[in-house]
Amino acid sequence: MPTLRTVKQICDRGLASSEKRAALDAVAARYAVALPPALADLIDRNDPHDPIARQFVPDAAELDHRLEELNDPIGDDAHSPVEGIVHRYPDRVLLKLTPICAVYCRFCFRREMVGPEKGNALSAEALTHALDYIRSHRQIWEVILTGGDPLVLSARRLREVMKELAAIDHVKVLRIHTRVPVAEPTRVTAELVRAIKVKGKPTYVALHINHPRELTQAARAACARMADAGLVLLGQSVLLAGVNDTPEVLGDLMRALVECRIKPYYLHHGDLAPGTAHLRTDIATGQDLMRALRGRLSGLCQPTYVLDIPGGHGKSPIGPDYLARTGSNGDAHFVVEDFNGRRHRYPPTAGARGA
Ligand code: SF4
Repeated sequence: MPTLRTVKQICDRGLASSEKRAALDAVAARYAVALPPALADLIDRNDPHDPIARQFVPDAAELDHRLEELNDPIGDDAHSPVEGIVHRYPDRVLLKLTPICAVYCRFCFRREMVGPEKGNALSAEALTHALDYIRSHRQIWEVILTGGDPLVLSARRLREVMKELAAIDHVKVLRIHTRVPVAEPTRVTAELVRAIKVKGKPTYVALHINHPRELTQAARAACARMADAGLVLLGQSVLLAGVNDTPEVLGDLMRALVECRIKPYYLHHGDLAPGTAHLRTDIATGQDLMRALRGRLSGLCQPTYVLDIPGGHGKSPIGPDYLARTGSNGDAHFVVEDFNGRRHRYPPTAGARGA
């Protein structure tokens, strides 16, 4: 079965009601649609709240734009010195090679920039300028390939780019952000893995995965091919209403990631991308979920809950606080909360430690 790329194809597969077709066509005219078979097959058509469908099947609510929403919610454009580069933090840059993805997430933070209608792959000339920029900025320690999804490119093209980057002396770490291992696991061939594994420089692969059901046997096998080859795998998840906003689902997701040798890295608070209010939670919900994870799961399963500050000011951790400073006049001390929610004075008062 080919990737579903139109609302008609999605309705014909029974993944959306034909009665909604006109409204959904209006959504598809604005935001890219692609639903590959590996994800389409996961959708339970009898569940009107299916968490996979919520992420990938267009919804009329996407045309409900709120005042606080922004076309470029994390401020990429404000930090783009040359085409294809975003230089927000001193020691690292994003390199955007393509606006194409294997699947288009309905909550995408770059939804105004990704898709076949939203731009072209970086031309050879633009890539040369982007690489020159990286070469001439010696503070750039890490290059992050993002997009679009870099792993939709051919192994040959990826190998060329990775080799160019690895040859830059001051670039010590390469990172790739992708959803391909869950969206199109068969693309993760031995050849593709060899192409992104370069000699002498570690490559980290940050996988975007939001629900434990996305980790099918095929996706797990794709991840294993990468981990076995020595690529370091990180998990990036977006907190989404009706998808993973319960302690049970979020906990299962984090455990499944760790079982696949993917270290949970970030849990992103939903960005203020246009038409995504129906998928955003509030920050208090996210903090409660992080407390629930801390109380129930191994330290390996704990991501950092982060907010990309609108306007391009970067990410900040927004998880719950476990430490408060209190007291004064010679009795200044901390109160620290344990994983059960009990509070403890630190340092303990004299004699409170026992014998
Ligand atoms: S894979 Fe990433 S860039 Fe592509 S649509 Fe999903 S969130 Fe956006």
